[in-house]
Amino acid sequence: MQVVHGKSGWLEIICGPMFSGKSEELIKRIRRAQIARRRVQIFKHGIDARYDESSIVSHSQQSLPGMAVTHAQDILDQVDDRTELVAIDEGQFFDQDLLPVVIKLANLGKRVIVAGLDLDYRGVPFGPMPALLCSAEFVTKQLAICMVCGDPANFTQRLTPATDQIVVGAAETYEARCRRHFEPPVED
Ligand code: ADP
Repeated sequence: MQVVHGKSGWLEIICGPMFSGKSEELIKRIRRAQIARRRVQIFKHGIDARYDESSIVSHSQQSLPGMAVTHAQDILDQVDDRTELVAIDEGQFFDQDLLPVVIKLANLGKRVIVAGLDLDYRGVPFGPMPALLCSAEFVTKQLAICMVCGDPANFTQRLTPATDQIVVGAAETYEARCRRHFEPPVED
């Protein structure tokens, strides 16, 4: 990704399927900002208690402490005036209010990074992510490895018959699949 210097804020999105390294990439960018002594605040959606309610954690066990919130507005309420980087993980779980919130933060001159699934288990755009992708200055699309053939994987295959859009889980519930091996659920 390009490095931006200047006083205006901006929005970065890191998207892709589960296991594509979104959290790892987010953690890497945060760590670099911390090395540069930027003031950072880290948020994740409170629904994902996969490992730890208040940290962002990758499938490779890297983690950084953060704050769990359920509404996008909570982020605005919590962000300190002096904060320079606002990092948000699991962006897909927020409602459409996430877009005006991150626009407001970027307009205040802050660097905002949102990581999230762009597609749900059906292969359908997930929550506020499409709108965020259109508004972002920088978009990083990551791919995982297909667990059937080893090709690059853009899809998240749910391994259980549940039909709720949100079912929190990791390797026991989901795996990454390429276009050839992704099997979307059959609609009734
Ligand atoms: P995401 O946030 O996109 O779900 P993470 O950053 O949490 O991804 O985890 C990425 C890590 O998951 C990889 O570095 C690798 O160690 C592990 N991993 C497990 N399964 C896969 C897979 N199918 N493809 C790629 N990485 C995988």
